[in-house]
Amino acid sequence: TLRVSTLSKSFGANTVLHDVDLQLREGEWLGILGESGSGKSTLLRILGRFLDADQGDVFFKEQKLKPVSGELMPGHDAIRLIHQEYELFPNQTVEENIAYSLRFYDADYRLEKVAELLETAGLHYVKKQKAKLLSGGEKQRTAIAKALAEQPDVLLLDEPFAHLDNHNRRVLGDAIEALRKQQKMSCIFVTHESADALAWSDRIAVLRNGKIIQVGTPQEIYNQPVDSYVAELTGDIN
Ligand code: ATP
Ligand code: MG
Repeated sequence: TLRVSTLSKSFGANTVLHDVDLQLREGEWLGILGESGSGKSTLLRILGRFLDADQGDVFFKEQKLKPVSGELMPGHDAIRLIHQEYELFPNQTVEENIAYSLRFYDADYRLEKVAELLETAGLHYVKKQKAKLLSGGEKQRTAIAKALAEQPDVLLLDEPFAHLDNHNRRVLGDAIEALRKQQKMSCIFVTHESADALAWSDRIAVLRNGKIIQVGTPQEIYNQPVDSYVAELTGDIN
């Protein structure tokens, strides 16, 4: 559904993305795995229409997306980016935060949908809690539930597992898994943790210094790494 070809981006003399080609398939969860500074957030921001590339195009359903030209808001409602720092209304409760994304629907549908999302994201027990009082994992799940309420075609997640302990990683991963079974949606998520990429992706793209060096299923990446860099990144050598 979403495709980029020969995408490049520099900040001054620093070339952050080099000739990136990537295609997200319908319904696919694509993990982008790369070390800190490899260009993951920059790539997501370009895909989410928060930033323009210097070169190359972004296609959504084979339609070329127009440049953002300095505007802050993404041009396309079908593509929804959740930033590394999640955006919740701190003084609103979990259910109010999710309901906000459904404000254009009638009340009955809204109530039903909020209840459903609370259930699948495992947030029932904190639904009356203000967002600012949530734990990191609860905030992540609320942000994802809020984005899902908008039913985007493509969800872009920047480090959804960051700062989570193993238990909360699993809770969030299970919640995502349940939600993705319910809704037909494609997702690109970025992470620097190979375990998360291996666990939650249909395919993984490995990003090194702004270049995609390998794309494949978790099994392919793990069993047939193209070079020692990928082997070390995904192997349990540590
Ligand atoms: P992390 O895992 O730490 O989040 P990342 O892979 O998401 O890293 P990016 O945020 O994409 O990395 O940054 C890639 C490089 O681009 C970094 O060297 C960063 O300093 C630089 N960079 C990012 N945004 C800008 C900007 N607006 N202006 C100048 N340089 C930037
Ligand atoms: Mg980042």
